[in-house]
Amino acid sequence: MKFIDEAVIEAHAGKGGAGASHFRREKFVPYGGPDGGNGGNGGSVVLVADENVQTLLDFRYQPLWRAKNGTPGAGQQKDGASADDLLIPVPVGTQVYSHSTEDNEGDLIADLDHSGRQVILLKGGRGGKGNAFFKSATKQAPTHAQKGEPGGHGKFKLSLKLVADVGLVGFPNAGKSTLIARISAAKPKIADYPFTTLTPNLGVVKMREHGSLVVADIPGLIEGAHSGRGLGTQFLKHIERACVLAHLIDAIEPGGAGSELNAWQAYQAIRTELENFSQLLRAKKQLVVITKIDALPDPDLLNSVLAPFKEHNLPVLAISSVSGANLDQLIDQLWALAHT
Ligand code: GDP
Ligand code: MG
Repeated sequence: MKFIDEAVIEAHAGKGGAGASHFRREKFVPYGGPDGGNGGNGGSVVLVADENVQTLLDFRYQPLWRAKNGTPGAGQQKDGASADDLLIPVPVGTQVYSHSTEDNEGDLIADLDHSGRQVILLKGGRGGKGNAFFKSATKQAPTHAQKGEPGGHGKFKLSLKLVADVGLVGFPNAGKSTLIARISAAKPKIADYPFTTLTPNLGVVKMREHGSLVVADIPGLIEGAHSGRGLGTQFLKHIERACVLAHLIDAIEPGGAGSELNAWQAYQAIRTELENFSQLLRAKKQLVVITKIDALPDPDLLNSVLAPFKEHNLPVLAISSVSGANLDQLIDQLWALAHT
């Protein structure tokens, strides 16, 4: 499953420091030579592919980046300090485009497809030369010093193709968006009605020791999705490439509001839907996830919900995104399925 994660950033490189115009002053030397130092260079803005960064999500919250300015030169040939470059870590696989406008599609500037690969997005301004620099045989006392150059400035589009490890499938309202919001940094829209998720939402779960797990929230399946009824087909084709399917089934209303289906029947209905769409889906590794167990009035009910899955030797786990019950086990099991 591939999804595009995108963000637009605006960046300013640092300005160069001004060169100094200054003359040596000594007690007995009325006209000392020019000794104004050069300004330091402004910092460049550099993007670096970093394995510790998983998504472009943070750039939605922090779109503006500014490198530091160089400091000015001073008398006694003191050069200003150059600013450090501003290194911005981005996920491995980030493609960088010039920002598109209405009449100009952005161009690909860089493809940061290896860890550590970097691109200078904007060069820092050069520091100005101090007046000492302009001294020559014919010009013994230049007063002229340069200003620092301005740094570059621009907007860029970052784009990341993510391949999901796990696809969440289930009827509308099964609790897919809530789960992904609970276990990852993604914040999908959640509401109490079907089809809140109109485009697949991605969540990246940071794993303590294993790195990360990319989980995709697929909009609610409804019966008949494989034949193009309602939403479904357009998203079903995405899950053909996911490693693992997690079937989410609401413990209280397994087939959705107003449906008489029990959990086992709801599972069958979803299986049929998936298999009718593609035989590839039939062979996928899967985990059945019974959701919302915090809302079950009686713990015995859970046993009867789980029983048919256990009889058929299907891996099944009962969770609650509200109380957090079994979420750690869920992540561990999904991780294990995706990496074996
Ligand atoms: P989706 O259609 O599968 O994405 O389902 P949502 O995540 O949008 O959830 C549907 C409804 O179920 C929302 O009102 C959620 O607040 C509620 N819900 C989701 N997970 C839980 C849970 O673990 N416990 C309870 N009590 N309600 C939940
Ligand atoms: Mg949803």
